[in-house]
Amino acid sequence: MSKLPEMFGSNVFNDRVMQDKLPKETYNALKKTIEQGQPLDISVANTVANAMREWAVEKGCTHYTHWFQPMTGITAGKHDSFISPVGDGRVIMEFSGKELIKGEPDASSFPSGGIRATFEARGYTTWDPTSPAFIMDDSLYIPTAFCSYTGEVLDKKTPLLRSMERLNTEAVKILHLLGKKNVNRVLTTVGPEQEYFLIDKELYDRREDLKLTGRTLFGAKAIKGQELDDHYFGAIKTRVSEYMKDLDNELWKLGICSKTKHNEVAPSQHELAPIFSTSNIATDHNELTMEVMKKTAEKHNLVCLLHEKPFAGVNGSGKHNNWSMSTDTGENLLEPGKQPENNLQFQLFLAAIVKAVHEYQDLLRITVATAGNDHRLGANEAPPAIISMYIGDDLGELVQSIIDGTEYVSRGKTDMKTGVNVLVDFKKDTSDRNRTSPFAFTGNKFEFRALGSSLNIACPNYMLNTMIAEELSQFYDELSGAQDMEAAVKALVRRVLTEHRNIIFNGDNYTEEWVAEAERRGLYNLKSLPEAYRHFINKKNVDLFVKNKICTEQELRARCEIELETYSKQINIEALTMIDMAKRNITPAVSAYVKELTNLALAKKALSGRIPTIVEENTIISLSAKLMDFAEKTAKLEMAVSEAAKYSSNNLTCARYYHDVVLSIMQELREVGDSMESETAAKYWPYPTYTEMLFSV
Ligand code: ADP
Ligand code: MG
Repeated sequence: MSKLPEMFGSNVFNDRVMQDKLPKETYNALKKTIEQGQPLDISVANTVANAMREWAVEKGCTHYTHWFQPMTGITAGKHDSFISPVGDGRVIMEFSGKELIKGEPDASSFPSGGIRATFEARGYTTWDPTSPAFIMDDSLYIPTAFCSYTGEVLDKKTPLLRSMERLNTEAVKILHLLGKKNVNRVLTTVGPEQEYFLIDKELYDRREDLKLTGRTLFGAKAIKGQELDDHYFGAIKTRVSEYMKDLDNELWKLGICSKTKHNEVAPSQHELAPIFSTSNIATDHNELTMEVMKKTAEKHNLVCLLHEKPFAGVNGSGKHNNWSMSTDTGENLLEPGKQPENNLQFQLFLAAIVKAVHEYQDLLRITVATAGNDHRLGANEAPPAIISMYIGDDLGELVQSIIDGTEYVSRGKTDMKTGVNVLVDFKKDTSDRNRTSPFAFTGNKFEFRALGSSLNIACPNYMLNTMIAEELSQFYDELSGAQDMEAAVKALVRRVLTEHRNIIFNGDNYTEEWVAEAERRGLYNLKSLPEAYRHFINKKNVDLFVKNKICTEQELRARCEIELETYSKQINIEALTMIDMAKRNITPAVSAYVKELTNLALAKKALSGRIPTIVEENTIISLSAKLMDFAEKTAKLEMAVSEAAKYSSNNLTCARYYHDVVLSIMQELREVGDSMESETAAKYWPYPTYTEMLFSV
């Protein structure tokens, strides 16, 4: 399609539009803010607001919204129209610099983790000029940060922006120390690969559990699952392909560089990957991508499921957070180059990452913990709950040689002979892929793989940036007085790699041996959210965020409370949904089937007494026993849910109760329900089956 370059970014107030619509001085002033982080003048804001409004109204917009990322897990914004009455019954379209810069949503209905009382309702949203405004559904969307009246951070964007600044400062200092004086800025970059399921809307609408909780709470396994490995990278079905084309178009209009699409491992599972951008824009774009995915699905009579584990028995969905750092001079700081053994700069940054991942493995685990992702981590599909890092054989040997003080012999890229004349021979990558590692080096970036599919990537990224900034600042303090910089860097790299080698693991992360080995190495194995969050407010972690001015101890505690509370609430909703499904649909359906069988058996007996009724009777006996069991477990679950109130005064205790007690009863109830499904006539079963949902698109 030759029109693609014109269509791309057509709904974005991007650099080209700004050059076109803004007076030169305004444009230059705004650029300084965007690129160098300089404060913005209100007169500049007024001019920008005017230009934005004009551009948006030309494109059919009637409203604008301050778009922000509160602690709810989704994005938010209220929509105000541009209209302003002029007195004679008519209106004009207006939008001031003040309205662009500052919004005042009522903050009391967003989670604050107890930071404010509800009567302190005021909150502010502030324009983030580093992420471009865009148009969706006739509204001009302005990306913003969100804080309370008293200045506490209530969102995910603010810590991310702060962490990018911190990392920039520390990385530039290190580069200057190493003699790279021409570097003025270091940006963190992210490319998130997004997994999702697509199912038929009509089937979805009949599943109470999917609608209320995003995942199936009952459902016997489909006859066919993913065992044939015939879905991954397979031919994309027409209906899915139509959806993907439409989705790409919508994303391209929003300036999102959607690049790769393919089928994933599980039936009905797919993936979308964009070209990477700065952490901030990548985060906004990923949030937008998830919204557009869901909206576009509706147009195709499909539903896009972003839950981490919508279906038991087949893979869940994750998100791979590809992460790196690059300079304003165009250098990727994680590019090892042809001779990594002589690339001290690379070694120093690698050492900082190794140290950070080792010291803050708990934070990395915590930041990906959600009720949904708990179903993946540790199961045999996603990375395990143990955080370790993979650096590949080549770098592994380099690290070993640095530790041992021996010479490193690079294997270099070898030729790949295809053995077929018409195929071109090519250079093989020096390291193979390791798909089991939670944190893997992939040539010139790290891929953090433990994220759940629905997660806002702001959180893992601000944690990553902050912990690495912290290590770099420690390195700077150690190196800055050195007489012989080369010797000092070498000594530091060697010491750090030796001290933190335990976090490096290049083997198969799915084996039992690794679990035992990781324990010997003293690595954490935090299996669930409540277990992980016990470590959040450790002194080491509080110090990290407070020292680097990412958030205060109070804000951190608030975040912890919000996540724990959300976890309990989600499981509570799941339990209530199960009880409802069990009592009002599954039990009556199975009883009705038993009644039909009973009537049939009685009719046969009445007829002559000689027609066998053994098949009916066996099923009646089996299902009746299961119905009893099912009713008991439903009652047990109801009791467990009502008892949760006892723990409500402490969010951690409450979350642990939901995990240890409620979730395990839910599992027991599900097993009985699923086994009844396998025995009940299809026409009686009240819900679409796994086979229907996974194989009908
Ligand atoms: P795969 O993980 O399947 O090998 P790719 O190699 O295509 O896939 O990369 C996956 C993602 O990594 C893409 O979104 C890509 O844009 C992103 N990526 C590539 N280079 C960088 C980088 N320097 N920083 C951040 N992300 C990057
Ligand atoms: Mg990947």
